[in-house]
Amino acid sequence: MAENQNPGVVIVGGGLAGAKTAEALREQGFTGAVTLIGGERHLPYERPPLSKEHLAGAKQLPDFTVHDADWYREHSIDLRLGVRATAIETLARRVTLDDGQALDYSALVLATGSSSRRPPIPGSDAEGVHYLRTIEESDAVLAALTDGARLAVVGGGWIGLEVAASARGRGVEVTVVEASVLPLLAAMGPELAQVFADLHRQHGVDLRLDAKVAAITVAGGRATGLQLADGTLIEADAVLVAVGAAANIELAQDAGLTLAAGGIEVDAGLRTSAPDVYAVGDIAAAAHPLFGTRIRTEHWANALNQPAVAAANILGGAAEYANLPYFFTDQYDLGMEYSGHSAGYTQVVLRGDAAAREFIAFWLDENHRVLAGMNVNIWDSTDDIKALISARKPVDPQRLADVSVPLGEQL
Ligand SMILES: Cc1cc2nc3c(=O)[nH]c(=O)nc-3n(C[C@H](O)[C@H](O)[C@H](O)COP(=O)(O)OP(=O)(O)OC[C@H]3O[C@@H](n4cnc5c(N)ncnc54)[C@H](O)[C@@H]3O)c2cc1C
Repeated sequence: MAENQNPGVVIVGGGLAGAKTAEALREQGFTGAVTLIGGERHLPYERPPLSKEHLAGAKQLPDFTVHDADWYREHSIDLRLGVRATAIETLARRVTLDDGQALDYSALVLATGSSSRRPPIPGSDAEGVHYLRTIEESDAVLAALTDGARLAVVGGGWIGLEVAASARGRGVEVTVVEASVLPLLAAMGPELAQVFADLHRQHGVDLRLDAKVAAITVAGGRATGLQLADGTLIEADAVLVAVGAAANIELAQDAGLTLAAGGIEVDAGLRTSAPDVYAVGDIAAAAHPLFGTRIRTEHWANALNQPAVAAANILGGAAEYANLPYFFTDQYDLGMEYSGHSAGYTQVVLRGDAAAREFIAFWLDENHRVLAGMNVNIWDSTDDIKALISARKPVDPQRLADVSVPLGEQL
């Protein structure tokens, strides 16, 4: 292998977090070698449009590609696409690739993201059964969303609901089967989960709650619908299985890195347990300086913002990732942004008109401190919401609900 004393930075994972790491290293003045290993054959791209604008026909892959090919050339990034890292030796500081090559590193950044969960539902391998994580899968879902077609969605999480909304927009009959009593219950709690259940029903989605899928029904090798545990049959021309994602941690696990919260344990500076190995994006279970707990969220904003912190620390800095978790979704005419971390909340305060879906929801802890906030169809309020969360001070729930008292005057 290379005898080079300073072999440079190797980034494993060609998604948003990987591309942003390369960008941050160059922006912060790193002039050494940067190699980006991407398992997909495409230039790194963003995934949120895969269930939204791409399915609406409003955006194509180049519209949500992070950088074009010229950018990587101009910034001397050695971009290896369609190549997977298969092993890491942390003592030898070496990454092995599936094309037979091996790369030495002075610093390694893991940005391997997540994969769709694929539960062993009978019939899953039939034609017409879809998952949604990649552009190819989004293209395949889009091809199935023809006017008048019937789509059955397994799972009422974010991706299932976003596809349901996109599908309704294309004239597709949609049934969503959710095992819980409300969609998004774990993410939102019952108060706000109900808002999303109502939203979808009002837009014509057949929402089956507290319902378990026993099998995907198949005829002639093609999916024909779902069979529920109570025997109910749901006919469909296509099935989307959207039951969450799992972080791609196998490389880290095999290399003996410490794992946490379903991902790779990192400190607030995004350092893993191995020397000069960092983790960013979906896989990073990062100690959060504000909440004093370890947080791993599969949110676009982490992939966007964590790389600058890892890059700064690779270059000898002492940066911490203290951003609040941030998430957004668009479904029909509902757009929302969610900031914070509601774990352990005891109370939800609504501010505005929930029936008209123009409101802000706040999650408060037992000391009336704001843990999280979600603005629904109300814009330019995220900075105020984040300031309330970051203050870690009690608020008066009644004043918080009172729209005549500006958010900036709540503390
Ligand atoms: C359909 C969809 C809609 C979404 N919508 C939203 C949204 O509205 N809001 C929001 O906040 N978030 C959303 N997300 C989540 C968001 O896209 C992710 O949080 C983000 O993509 C994480 O970026 P990442 O770079 O960490 O990982 P990924 O985007 O998963 O990229 C990881 C890359 O690494 C590659 N890789 C993995 N292992 C290896 C290996 N061993 N060698 C080489 N390459 C490897 C993978 O193939 C992949 O290309 C959505 C996700 C999906 C799938």
